[in-house]
Amino acid sequence: MNEAQARREMVKYSEQMHQFGWVANHDGNLSVRLSENIEPTDCRILCTPTAWSKGDVKVDDLLIVDHLGAKKSGPHKPFSEINLHLAVYRLRSDVKAVVHAHCPYATAYGSAQKSIPHPFLPEAVVSIGAHIPMVSLSMPGQAALDALSAVIRKTDVAVVSGNGVWAWGPDLNTAYLRLELVEHIAKIAWMAESLGGVKKLGDKEIESLMQKRVQAKLNAPEEDGVVKKATVENPIIESVIAQLKQTFPHHSVEQIQELAKASLKQKK
Ligand SMILES: [Zn+2]
Repeated sequence: MNEAQARREMVKYSEQMHQFGWVANHDGNLSVRLSENIEPTDCRILCTPTAWSKGDVKVDDLLIVDHLGAKKSGPHKPFSEINLHLAVYRLRSDVKAVVHAHCPYATAYGSAQKSIPHPFLPEAVVSIGAHIPMVSLSMPGQAALDALSAVIRKTDVAVVSGNGVWAWGPDLNTAYLRLELVEHIAKIAWMAESLGGVKKLGDKEIESLMQKRVQAKLNAPEEDGVVKKATVENPIIESVIAQLKQTFPHHSVEQIQELAKASLKQKK
């Protein structure tokens, strides 16, 4: 995607977030990595300006920052949470866009320090995985950076207590849709509370949905519940997992993973 397209998309999703009531005042921020990598020499990251309503952002208000979040061009200042976006780009070379908003339902769960009841919608497991990590409340700066960094390679969505939803992906559209899905799940779970709460999927259902997720190459690099697919590079792991699956056909993905780890440790 070229810069002009990225600017148009960023304005579109900023306006959408505002329309849906996911951002108030100056809440929320979006970024897109325009450069191939985030090396000091050529890093270019397009982002929304600080202290600006997402409902008022225009293509010329957007700015470009470098690998440290310092402004390279644009009329306004970058937002302070750019360090969290940069952490995602640093830890995930596959990610090209990061979005953040205070979507009310998901943010309510996060602020109450309660995990969103998930998974109960099968399709959502394929789209965002079987876990929506809840990052504990941390003050802006290094503490927030450390807290979010711990989950970046395990997921593409996270609810940060007291700071809304974060999502990332290979492009802005995907990152935005992931954020949208987290809010949708939180809203349904919230509504189901008055009916006795959602009924979560069972281990076997989750396992088969996770297989579909892996097949579609949608999983994060170190996502929980993902048994590494058999590859030519790791024939030992492949054979151990295959054996364990045969011996324990009713074990969950997590249980097989634990057994495989233990068995590989013994073999060393
Ligand atoms: Zn926020």
